[in-house]
Amino acid sequence: MWRLSKPDLDDAIRDIDKVIALSNKKLDAADAPPLEKLYQAYDAGSGYVPDQLHDSSLTEDKAAIVYKQYEKTRFSYGSPGLKYMRSELMANAAHCPYCGFGEPSHLDHAMPKKPYKALSVCRLNLVPSCSVCNEKKGDKHKFVHPYYQTYPVGVRFFIASITVVDNIFVASFAIDDSAIDGQLADLLRAQIKIAELEDRLRREVNRFIREIPLSALISDEVLNKYLEVILADTKSDFGLNHWKTAVLFALCEFPGLTVEHIRNHKSATADAAQIV
Ligand SMILES: [Zn+2]
Repeated sequence: MWRLSKPDLDDAIRDIDKVIALSNKKLDAADAPPLEKLYQAYDAGSGYVPDQLHDSSLTEDKAAIVYKQYEKTRFSYGSPGLKYMRSELMANAAHCPYCGFGEPSHLDHAMPKKPYKALSVCRLNLVPSCSVCNEKKGDKHKFVHPYYQTYPVGVRFFIASITVVDNIFVASFAIDDSAIDGQLADLLRAQIKIAELEDRLRREVNRFIREIPLSALISDEVLNKYLEVILADTKSDFGLNHWKTAVLFALCEFPGLTVEHIRNHKSATADAAQIV
Protein backbone atom coordinates (compact mmCIF):
# COMPACT_ATOMS: atom_id res chain seq x y z
CA MET A 1 0.00 0.00 0.00
CA TRP A 2 1.16 3.54 -0.87
CA ARG A 3 4.24 2.36 -2.78
CA LEU A 4 5.00 0.34 -5.92
CA SER A 5 8.40 -0.40 -7.41
CA LYS A 6 9.18 2.15 -10.10
CA PRO A 7 9.31 1.03 -13.74
CA ASP A 8 12.66 1.43 -15.44
CA LEU A 9 13.40 4.77 -17.12
CA ASP A 10 15.27 2.90 -19.88
CA ASP A 11 12.16 0.81 -20.60
CA ALA A 12 10.09 4.01 -20.75
CA ILE A 13 12.56 5.50 -23.23
CA ARG A 14 12.53 2.31 -25.33
CA ASP A 15 8.72 2.61 -25.51
CA ILE A 16 9.08 5.91 -27.40
CA ASP A 17 10.21 4.18 -30.62
CA LYS A 18 7.18 1.89 -30.47
CA VAL A 19 4.85 4.85 -29.91
CA ILE A 20 6.35 6.60 -32.95
CA ALA A 21 6.07 3.43 -35.06
CA LEU A 22 2.38 3.07 -34.14
CA SER A 23 1.49 6.67 -35.03
CA ASN A 24 0.95 6.13 -38.78
CA LYS A 25 3.82 8.49 -39.55
CA LYS A 26 2.18 11.33 -37.62
CA LEU A 27 5.19 11.22 -35.32
CA ASP A 28 8.71 10.71 -36.57
CA ALA A 29 12.24 10.11 -35.33
CA ALA A 30 12.71 13.84 -34.63
CA ASP A 31 10.00 13.59 -31.93
CA ALA A 32 11.98 11.01 -29.95
CA PRO A 33 14.64 13.31 -28.37
CA PRO A 34 12.15 15.83 -26.88
CA LEU A 35 10.03 12.99 -25.48
CA GLU A 36 13.14 11.31 -24.08
CA LYS A 37 14.15 14.60 -22.44
CA LEU A 38 10.65 14.98 -20.98
CA TYR A 39 10.71 11.44 -19.54
CA GLN A 40 14.14 12.07 -18.03
CA ALA A 41 12.92 15.32 -16.49
CA TYR A 42 9.85 13.52 -15.10
CA ASP A 43 12.08 10.89 -13.50
CA ALA A 44 14.52 13.51 -12.15
CA GLY A 45 11.53 15.49 -10.80
CA SER A 46 10.22 12.41 -8.94
CA GLY A 47 7.09 12.16 -11.03
CA TYR A 48 6.55 15.82 -11.74
CA VAL A 49 7.41 18.23 -14.54
CA PRO A 50 6.50 21.93 -14.63
CA ASP A 51 3.79 22.86 -17.16
CA GLN A 52 6.23 24.94 -19.18
CA LEU A 53 8.64 22.05 -19.65
CA HIS A 54 5.80 19.74 -20.65
CA ASP A 55 4.30 22.23 -23.10
CA SER A 56 7.63 23.02 -24.75
CA SER A 57 8.46 19.33 -25.35
CA LEU A 58 6.12 18.75 -28.31
CA THR A 59 3.71 20.92 -30.27
CA GLU A 60 0.09 20.62 -29.19
CA ASP A 61 -0.75 18.61 -32.33
CA LYS A 62 2.06 16.14 -31.73
CA ALA A 63 1.20 15.80 -28.04
CA ALA A 64 -2.39 15.04 -29.11
CA ILE A 65 -1.07 12.20 -31.32
CA VAL A 66 0.85 10.77 -28.33
CA TYR A 67 -2.37 11.03 -26.28
CA LYS A 68 -4.22 9.01 -28.93
CA GLN A 69 -1.72 6.17 -28.64
CA TYR A 70 -2.77 5.53 -25.03
CA GLU A 71 -5.81 3.52 -26.12
CA LYS A 72 -3.39 1.10 -27.79
CA THR A 73 -2.33 -0.03 -24.30
CA ARG A 74 -5.87 -1.42 -24.05
CA PHE A 75 -7.00 -2.39 -27.54
CA SER A 76 -4.92 -4.14 -30.13
CA TYR A 77 -6.49 -3.08 -33.48
CA GLY A 78 -4.99 -6.12 -35.15
CA SER A 79 -1.47 -5.55 -33.81
CA PRO A 80 -0.11 -5.97 -30.28
CA GLY A 81 0.19 -2.17 -30.05
CA LEU A 82 1.17 -1.08 -26.56
CA LYS A 83 -0.67 -3.83 -24.67
CA TYR A 84 2.67 -5.18 -23.47
CA MET A 85 3.15 -1.98 -21.46
CA ARG A 86 -0.16 -2.44 -19.63
CA SER A 87 0.64 -6.12 -18.97
CA GLU A 88 4.08 -5.33 -17.59
CA LEU A 89 2.76 -2.58 -15.32
CA MET A 90 -0.16 -4.69 -14.07
CA ALA A 91 2.22 -7.55 -13.27
CA ASN A 92 4.03 -5.13 -10.95
CA ALA A 93 1.01 -4.59 -8.65
CA ALA A 94 -0.80 -7.23 -6.59
CA HIS A 95 -3.19 -4.60 -5.23
CA CYS A 96 -4.12 -1.01 -5.94
CA PRO A 97 -1.50 1.16 -4.17
CA TYR A 98 -4.07 3.85 -3.32
CA CYS A 99 -6.42 1.64 -1.26
CA GLY A 100 -4.35 -1.50 -0.64
CA PHE A 101 -7.12 -3.97 -1.46
CA GLY A 102 -8.71 -3.21 -4.87
CA GLU A 103 -7.73 -5.21 -7.92
CA PRO A 104 -5.60 -3.15 -10.30
CA SER A 105 -7.66 -2.94 -13.48
CA HIS A 106 -6.97 0.63 -14.60
CA LEU A 107 -3.85 2.63 -15.34
CA ASP A 108 -4.03 5.91 -13.49
CA HIS A 109 -2.17 8.85 -14.99
CA ALA A 110 -0.30 10.35 -12.02
CA MET A 111 -0.03 13.60 -13.97
CA PRO A 112 -3.44 13.61 -15.69
CA LYS A 113 -3.47 12.74 -19.35
CA LYS A 114 -5.62 15.56 -20.70
CA PRO A 115 -3.45 18.49 -19.60
CA TYR A 116 -0.24 16.46 -19.90
CA LYS A 117 -0.79 14.70 -23.21
CA ALA A 118 2.90 14.16 -23.97
CA LEU A 119 3.12 12.00 -20.82
CA SER A 120 0.08 9.86 -21.76
CA VAL A 121 2.10 6.75 -22.56
CA CYS A 122 5.09 7.33 -20.30
CA ARG A 123 5.12 4.22 -18.12
CA LEU A 124 6.63 6.18 -15.22
CA ASN A 125 3.39 8.16 -15.17
CA LEU A 126 1.08 5.13 -15.36
CA VAL A 127 0.03 3.63 -12.03
CA PRO A 128 -1.93 0.36 -11.86
CA SER A 129 -4.95 1.13 -9.70
CA CYS A 130 -8.44 -0.16 -9.01
CA SER A 131 -11.35 1.34 -10.93
CA VAL A 132 -12.82 3.03 -7.84
CA CYS A 133 -9.62 4.84 -6.81
CA ASN A 134 -8.93 5.80 -10.41
CA GLU A 135 -12.40 7.24 -10.90
CA LYS A 136 -12.44 9.07 -7.57
CA LYS A 137 -9.04 10.63 -8.27
CA GLY A 138 -10.00 11.62 -11.83
CA ASP A 139 -8.14 14.48 -13.47
CA LYS A 140 -8.72 16.94 -10.65
CA HIS A 141 -6.85 15.42 -7.73
CA LYS A 142 -3.27 14.63 -6.91
CA PHE A 143 -2.42 11.48 -5.01
CA VAL A 144 0.98 10.57 -3.59
CA HIS A 145 3.04 9.03 -6.36
CA PRO A 146 3.48 5.32 -5.61
CA TYR A 147 6.71 5.15 -7.66
CA TYR A 148 8.46 8.19 -6.22
CA GLN A 149 7.16 9.10 -2.77
CA THR A 150 9.55 7.93 -0.07
CA TYR A 151 8.74 7.41 3.59
CA PRO A 152 10.96 7.28 6.65
CA VAL A 153 12.02 3.68 7.28
CA GLY A 154 10.52 1.89 10.27
CA VAL A 155 8.00 4.66 11.00
CA ARG A 156 4.29 4.05 11.48
CA PHE A 157 2.13 6.84 10.15
CA PHE A 158 -1.13 5.10 9.07
CA ILE A 159 -2.82 4.37 12.35
CA ALA A 160 -6.08 2.50 12.96
CA SER A 161 -8.26 2.91 16.03
CA ILE A 162 -10.85 0.31 16.82
CA THR A 163 -14.06 0.57 18.77
CA VAL A 164 -16.88 -1.93 19.21
CA VAL A 165 -20.29 -0.71 18.13
CA ASP A 166 -23.23 -3.13 18.46
CA ASN A 167 -20.77 -6.03 18.75
CA ILE A 168 -18.98 -5.05 15.51
CA PHE A 169 -15.37 -3.86 15.40
CA VAL A 170 -15.33 -0.50 13.66
CA ALA A 171 -12.01 0.87 12.50
CA SER A 172 -11.15 4.47 11.82
CA PHE A 173 -7.86 5.52 10.28
CA ALA A 174 -5.63 8.54 10.77
CA ILE A 175 -2.30 9.86 9.54
CA ASP A 176 0.12 10.56 12.37
CA ASP A 177 1.41 14.10 11.85
CA SER A 178 4.32 13.63 14.18
CA ALA A 179 5.69 10.69 12.17
CA ILE A 180 6.04 12.25 8.70
CA ASP A 181 6.45 15.58 6.97
CA GLY A 182 3.39 17.82 7.47
CA GLN A 183 2.84 18.44 3.76
CA LEU A 184 2.92 14.72 3.01
CA ALA A 185 0.54 14.08 5.92
CA ASP A 186 -1.90 16.65 4.47
CA LEU A 187 -1.66 15.09 1.01
CA LEU A 188 -2.32 11.60 2.40
CA ARG A 189 -5.27 12.86 4.43
CA ALA A 190 -6.76 14.53 1.36
CA GLN A 191 -6.20 11.36 -0.67
CA ILE A 192 -7.94 9.21 1.97
CA LYS A 193 -10.90 11.59 1.89
CA ILE A 194 -11.14 11.78 -1.91
CA ALA A 195 -10.83 8.01 -2.28
CA GLU A 196 -13.42 7.57 0.53
CA LEU A 197 -10.99 5.06 1.90
CA GLU A 198 -12.38 4.83 5.41
CA ASP A 199 -15.85 3.81 4.21
CA ARG A 200 -14.44 1.43 1.63
CA LEU A 201 -12.07 -0.16 4.16
CA ARG A 202 -14.92 -0.89 6.56
CA ARG A 203 -16.07 -3.91 4.57
CA GLU A 204 -12.47 -5.15 4.18
CA VAL A 205 -11.87 -4.83 7.92
CA ASN A 206 -15.13 -6.68 8.64
CA ARG A 207 -14.06 -9.52 6.42
CA PHE A 208 -10.50 -9.53 7.76
CA ILE A 209 -11.69 -9.92 11.36
CA ARG A 210 -14.30 -12.49 10.32
CA GLU A 211 -11.51 -14.62 8.89
CA ILE A 212 -9.74 -15.01 12.23
CA PRO A 213 -9.96 -18.81 12.69
CA LEU A 214 -11.73 -19.12 16.02
CA SER A 215 -11.86 -22.91 15.99
CA ALA A 216 -8.08 -22.98 16.56
CA LEU A 217 -8.08 -20.26 19.22
CA ILE A 218 -8.98 -22.03 22.42
CA SER A 219 -8.45 -19.14 24.85
CA ASP A 220 -8.11 -15.37 25.03
CA GLU A 221 -4.39 -15.82 25.63
CA VAL A 222 -3.99 -17.96 22.50
CA LEU A 223 -5.99 -15.41 20.50
CA ASN A 224 -3.72 -12.56 21.59
CA LYS A 225 -0.58 -14.58 20.83
CA TYR A 226 -2.01 -15.54 17.44
CA LEU A 227 -2.65 -11.87 16.59
CA GLU A 228 0.92 -10.95 17.53
CA VAL A 229 2.27 -13.63 15.17
CA ILE A 230 -0.04 -12.52 12.35
CA LEU A 231 0.98 -8.90 12.96
CA ALA A 232 4.67 -9.82 12.59
CA ASP A 233 3.95 -11.67 9.32
CA THR A 234 1.75 -8.87 7.97
CA LYS A 235 4.38 -6.23 8.78
CA SER A 236 6.97 -8.16 6.85
CA ASP A 237 4.64 -9.00 3.92
CA PHE A 238 2.80 -5.69 3.50
CA GLY A 239 4.82 -3.10 5.43
CA LEU A 240 4.24 -1.04 8.55
CA ASN A 241 1.64 1.23 6.97
CA HIS A 242 -0.67 -1.18 5.22
CA TRP A 243 -4.28 -1.12 6.45
CA LYS A 244 -4.04 -4.77 7.61
CA THR A 245 -0.97 -3.98 9.71
CA ALA A 246 -2.73 -0.93 11.17
CA VAL A 247 -5.81 -3.00 12.07
CA LEU A 248 -3.69 -5.74 13.67
CA PHE A 249 -1.80 -3.16 15.76
CA ALA A 250 -5.15 -1.81 16.92
CA LEU A 251 -6.45 -5.30 17.75
CA CYS A 252 -3.26 -6.20 19.64
CA GLU A 253 -3.57 -2.96 21.62
CA PHE A 254 -7.32 -3.36 22.20
CA PRO A 255 -7.77 -3.47 25.98
CA GLY A 256 -9.06 -6.84 27.20
CA LEU A 257 -9.56 -8.42 23.78
CA THR A 258 -11.33 -11.78 24.11
CA VAL A 259 -12.40 -14.63 21.86
CA GLU A 260 -15.95 -13.54 22.72
CA HIS A 261 -15.35 -10.16 21.03
CA ILE A 262 -14.34 -11.92 17.80
CA ARG A 263 -17.22 -14.40 18.05
CA ASN A 264 -19.69 -11.54 18.52
CA HIS A 265 -18.24 -9.69 15.53
CA LYS A 266 -18.58 -12.81 13.39
CA SER A 267 -22.19 -13.37 14.29
CA ALA A 268 -23.11 -9.67 14.05
CA THR A 269 -21.66 -9.44 10.53
CA ALA A 270 -22.86 -12.86 9.38
CA ASP A 271 -25.71 -11.57 7.25
CA ALA A 272 -23.42 -9.34 5.24
CA ALA A 273 -21.05 -12.25 4.61
CA GLN A 274 -23.62 -14.80 3.49
CA ILE A 275 -24.04 -15.63 -0.12
CA VAL A 276 -27.68 -16.29 -0.86
ZN1 LIG B 1 -7.86 1.33 -5.04
